[in-house]
Amino acid sequence: MMTTDADCVFCKIMAGDIPSHRVLDTEDAYAFLDIAPLASGHTLLIPRRHARRMEDMTPDAAASLARHLPTLVQAIMSATGASGVNILQNNGSVAGQVVDHVHLHIVPRRDGDGLGFRWNAGTYAAGEAESLLERIAGYLETR
Ligand code: 5GP
Ligand code: ZN
Repeated sequence: MMTTDADCVFCKIMAGDIPSHRVLDTEDAYAFLDIAPLASGHTLLIPRRHARRMEDMTPDAAASLARHLPTLVQAIMSATGASGVNILQNNGSVAGQVVDHVHLHIVPRRDGDGLGFRWNAGTYAAGEAESLLERIAGYLETR
């Protein structure tokens, strides 16, 4: 796995080649304000080491990234007065990922802000959940 990608906009931001509003800067992670915020304080938390998608990260790298969340969420809520946040990770272009460097969106939320998902909840057909579980558990057992 590469440490940086010469064509990656987020690697360029961390290198200082593209300016950003830096929120957090540690040995393994960096956070900065999203340039096109869904709400004031919308922040992106990224690993220093370039990885395109979540499944390209080692478990330790993913854990190192996530460990910054509790404090970062508190800081963003305190600064913005938001009463909650959505933490999102668009993983793959089909899921809306545009920048191919793993990033966690932290989006401050307020009552009546009009943000939201099309959360089209469905149901499982008879036996579907069981056969699905078998495939997922089967995959996990081979790891
Ligand atoms: P994605 O759709 O990949 O999950 O989100 C990429 C995010 O990166 C978008 O919300 C977009 O506004 C943000 N973004 C893209 N380029 C830049 C940039 O050069 N600077 C900053 N601060 N944010 C960026
Ligand atoms: Zn990168």
